Amino acid sequence: MARNIGSRYTAHQILGRGSAGTVWLGEGPEGPVAIKLLREDLASDQELVGRFVQERTALLGLDHPRVVGVHDLVVDGNDLALVMELVRGTDLRTRLDRERRLAPEAAVAIVADIADGLAAAHAAGVVHRDVKPENILLDMEGPLGPGGAHPALLTDFGVAKLIDTPRRTKASKIIGTPDYLAPEIVEGLPPRAAVDIYALATVLYELLAGFTPFGGGHPGAVLRRHVTETVVPLPGIPEELWQLLVQCLAKAPASRLRASELADRLREQLPTLAGIPPLDVDEPEGEPTQQPYDDREPGPAAETEPRRRGAVPLVPGAAPDSNRDTHTSMRVPAPDELAGGARGTARAPRPSGQRRPGSARHKAETVRKRRITLGAAAVLLIAAVGVGGWLATGGNGTDGAPGDSKQTMSPVP
Ligand code: ADP
Ligand code: MG
Repeated sequence: MARNIGSRYTAHQILGRGSAGTVWLGEGPEGPVAIKLLREDLASDQELVGRFVQERTALLGLDHPRVVGVHDLVVDGNDLALVMELVRGTDLRTRLDRERRLAPEAAVAIVADIADGLAAAHAAGVVHRDVKPENILLDMEGPLGPGGAHPALLTDFGVAKLIDTPRRTKASKIIGTPDYLAPEIVEGLPPRAAVDIYALATVLYELLAGFTPFGGGHPGAVLRRHVTETVVPLPGIPEELWQLLVQCLAKAPASRLRASELADRLREQLPTLAGIPPLDVDEPEGEPTQQPYDDREPGPAAETEPRRRGAVPLVPGAAPDSNRDTHTSMRVPAPDELAGGARGTARAPRPSGQRRPGSARHKAETVRKRRITLGAAAVLLIAAVGVGGWLATGGNGTDGAPGDSKQTMSPVP
């Protein structure tokens, strides 16, 4: 069932569904396109439509082979659609779900591609703010690169910034994974280019390890780890690659590499990574899958349940969020929730070699860690206020470079 989008495009068949709407395989005057039709509630929001229109130039202006191009923005009756370059392939989350861990060479090649795309965006003054495997598309028709990796393209530029408003983040909303949020966002600073580097380094870690460095458990605990914990080394990772990861996961944004440097440094390492199999990394231990507000001590039964990494429901009884939204449905936990989360409902992954729960050493460490977490909860009280402020201001910061345009749109025919 074909459907007209404006006067120039026809949507033929659904390619995928996301949090912001449905993506269709379509046809335009220049050939096949992908059309993201925004959800009805988003498209009928006049203020949101106005912001999309204002950002039209920024959305349409990013022309780079590693960025999924936006060709057009169509406002037509009740429809609001982004007409995009069609990528024939899959997203990186789908590949990761299938393979669990990628060989270092392929992981580095994919991340270097995305760093190229970010370098172009940052040079134009655009911060992505939602770099995650779901927003990285793999072009299966493109030439195979190092490690057999298909070319990778970054999509959803600027969309997080537009959709993300305090009005939309109701208390009943389910939070997705905060796994990729840079610590300075948690602390209330405006998101600048370095937040994308942190998120991309998190993606690289995840491709290598099979899990994110600070994810898992209560969202408040994940936010806390971004601010207070250091990243656990991955066994068998080449030293130079590890140093690069550590640098780009630095808590201080200024210590991270810029996107173009990151792309160069990653590509320099590619020859030495050839032929290395995926790392043999211990899965993080099963974590109790209790309701987030339940502050019971985890019992033996709970300990045996496998821990679900990533998105967890913030609302008791709600289903876990399957699409791992970050910014678009972010709700900042209230201070009491954050404190509750610090009381044992969520923990950092247990790296190999760390004590198992139940041992005397483990108990002593637990007491020590509780002291630390209480201190961290205080840090988070401040952080929560900061993130709230960021959401309230729409988080408009870029690197101060030109390109954060506020131009109006010429009417779409
Ligand atoms: P959202 O960001 O709203 O959650 P996505 O952009 O992730 O939605 O799109 C949902 C799915 O649609 C993706 O997983 C992918 O399969 C497909 N898709 C999105 N953009 C394109 C594109 N430009 N070309 C081909 N398929 C796409
Ligand atoms: Mg997306």
